[in-house]
Amino acid sequence: MKYRVLGSSGGEAPGFGLSSFLVDDCLLIDTGGVAVALDVPSQAKIDHILLTHSHLDHTGGLPLLADNVFGMRTGPVHVHGIAQTLDGVQRNLLNDVLWPDFSKLPSRAFPTLLYREVPEGQPFEAAGYSITAVRVNHAVECVAYLIQGRRGAVLHVGDTGPTQAVWDLARAAARLRAVCVETTFPNRLQEVADQSGHLTPQSLRAELEKLGRDVPLFVFHLKPRFRSEIVAELRALQRGNLRLLEDGAVHRF
Ligand SMILES: [Zn+2]
Ligand SMILES: [Zn+2]
Repeated sequence: MKYRVLGSSGGEAPGFGLSSFLVDDCLLIDTGGVAVALDVPSQAKIDHILLTHSHLDHTGGLPLLADNVFGMRTGPVHVHGIAQTLDGVQRNLLNDVLWPDFSKLPSRAFPTLLYREVPEGQPFEAAGYSITAVRVNHAVECVAYLIQGRRGAVLHVGDTGPTQAVWDLARAAARLRAVCVETTFPNRLQEVADQSGHLTPQSLRAELEKLGRDVPLFVFHLKPRFRSEIVAELRALQRGNLRLLEDGAVHRF
């Protein structure tokens, strides 16, 4: 699996792209920074998008991508998410007020975007992968995705506070090559993290105890203004298998 980091930050500023990760050039996980990180012909190659939740830093690139690829493709872009996420996007973002509703453009019969509600805990197929959405603990309804291919699996945990079910799934997953997981705030803002459904380095450590297996870890979604503080606290965890996801990086899992 080729896993390209288009944006990895929990806030936007010059040099800090919002959450967006491209698998094998055709499967996108969240859309935060996609429109600024990827040229238009490459955006047009994306067949499937997995949305973790409705928050703007994860969905904000979707209207712009739809606009960019409009008329360039022979089929729709499949936008996968749980019902609450798709409902949030359709009602509040691509709603013919903030932006055109690309699920009926150029026509209902041949739309640019096709919304696909996914089940929780039951695998579905997209882009040749078996994908499972698992509910995590965030300020709005939010899921993580376990993406299983022939040669291995990757767990992508976007925004979450302390949670459980996803770690149970990860513990049992065959050939788990990597866990990508958020850490948004430094330890001194634990209360803010808990209230908003995010992790700090110390709460990440507790989550990794629940994971209970030695898997390469890739941390992302750091708030830009706290980045150096969070990085120092992550280093203090002294986990040799922990790295940061950096914008522009390409990993092969
Ligand atoms: Zn969020
Ligand atoms: Zn976020």
